[in-house]
Amino acid sequence: MSLILLWITLLLPGCKLFSTAERTAPIVVFTFDDQHLSIYESAFPIMREFGFRGTNFVNTNVIGLTNLMNWAQITELELEYGWETGGHTLNHEALNQLDLEVAIANIKQDKQNLYDHGLNPRSFALPRGQCPIQLYDMLTGLYQNIRGSSDFAMHHPLNRKALGYLAYQSGWSSDIVKRRIQRGILNQEALIIIGFHRFDTDSDEYADSCPSPTFREILQYTKDLGLKVLPLAEAVSQ
Ligand SMILES: [Zn+2]
Repeated sequence: MSLILLWITLLLPGCKLFSTAERTAPIVVFTFDDQHLSIYESAFPIMREFGFRGTNFVNTNVIGLTNLMNWAQITELELEYGWETGGHTLNHEALNQLDLEVAIANIKQDKQNLYDHGLNPRSFALPRGQCPIQLYDMLTGLYQNIRGSSDFAMHHPLNRKALGYLAYQSGWSSDIVKRRIQRGILNQEALIIIGFHRFDTDSDEYADSCPSPTFREILQYTKDLGLKVLPLAEAVSQ
């Protein structure tokens, strides 16, 4: 940008260049899958420090098992801190590997379990990204927002029934996520979803563990860019 253009832009914040940049800034959503206890112990305090709220996708049959969040923690995040809790099936089985009747009952019972704990599920994440076509109408009738498992550009108007996300992988530096966010800004995407699973797990066994310092760098970058961070259901309603 030339110096003169920059000068005009700074002087006239209502001018087209400035307002275009404002209008097209993507909203960032941080999702947390599979109720790992480390989400509550490591990620939640950092999210809170930055004033950000996230979306948990939980499997309601296994809540409270070893190294997983319990109901008190999950409900605390939604009811006291404004996080969103979304459905993710009872046990995290891929829906295409279940008999249709079993899959339908599974999805309905999972949502009911969330309701029974005073939660307000509006979003669903497909376990392993799989959804048999016969289930799609039922699922989109039960949930306003469906997140799959691959990453693609999401522009206005958003297709709330087929959302993508970038899943953080063990060993990634924060630069990989920062570049994804930067690309979303340059491409004028409406929504960027960054997904996490475990935190601070020192084991080669897991491909999805994010160190707290890396997570903090990602949140700091998002904040420094001035991007809005919201739970999924709120982000897609903007
Ligand atoms: Zn999952």
